[in-house]
Amino acid sequence: MEIIRRHLGHLTREVEPRWPYTMPSMRQYGPEEAGRMLRLFWDVPSGPISSMTRLIEDAGSFVVPFDFRTDKIDAVSVEADTFFIFFVNPKAPADRLRFSLAHELGHLIYRHYLEPDDVGKFDPEKEANAFASAFLMPKDEIRREFYGEITIARLKALKERWLVSMAALIMRAHDVKAITQKRKQQLFMRMSQLGIRRKEPVEIPREQAKLYRRVLDAFQEELNYSELELCEILHMGSVKEFRTVYYPDRLSHVVDFPDTAFRSSL
Ligand SMILES: [Zn+2]
Repeated sequence: MEIIRRHLGHLTREVEPRWPYTMPSMRQYGPEEAGRMLRLFWDVPSGPISSMTRLIEDAGSFVVPFDFRTDKIDAVSVEADTFFIFFVNPKAPADRLRFSLAHELGHLIYRHYLEPDDVGKFDPEKEANAFASAFLMPKDEIRREFYGEITIARLKALKERWLVSMAALIMRAHDVKAITQKRKQQLFMRMSQLGIRRKEPVEIPREQAKLYRRVLDAFQEELNYSELELCEILHMGSVKEFRTVYYPDRLSHVVDFPDTAFRSSL
């Protein structure tokens, strides 16, 4: 990650890009207010956020797929010069990734990385989660969605619309007092009984990061890095893995593709 941070920093300095948004500090606001303010500041239309990745890229930061070698980590953010890099686990479900990006965004706008001394006075993880919920599901708007009885079927429909997990919706419904603590527990229990607590139904579309791709292209075209060298920098085990994550369009050119039917059609 350190190498990617340096390289992206270097390349970004070269191109001196201009970003439509910046990453403001929201330390003076509570999570609900910060979520609302950032939406205003970034001119995010009301309703569900169509792409967390695009918002972050428009704020001049990078979203980079990264193999953490574990499914316990979804995303990590690091500061690099004038921007941030959000490393995301490409294997995590898309709804969870969006929440994790919003969570990391919470750490950044609260400048948690700047004030490690503050840790202990409050819980930065809780604060980042509260911000993520508020940013993805603004209080007044989401409250209107939680009318009548909240059932598993309703949660599925809401997940499809808001592009957040059913679990995040249950937590939010409780936050905004649309359901009681008891109902929250019942819903989680029902999900466990149905075997959908760990692996939720309703697959939402994956967000596509574009900015890092421009940088990777520059590495190859201007700095003459080979795909193999980039594989090493990015912790990828093989060119195929590298292309699967970064260049799916180049996959058809991989000769070591294991599917023989596919190979014979090359
Ligand atoms: Zn965190």
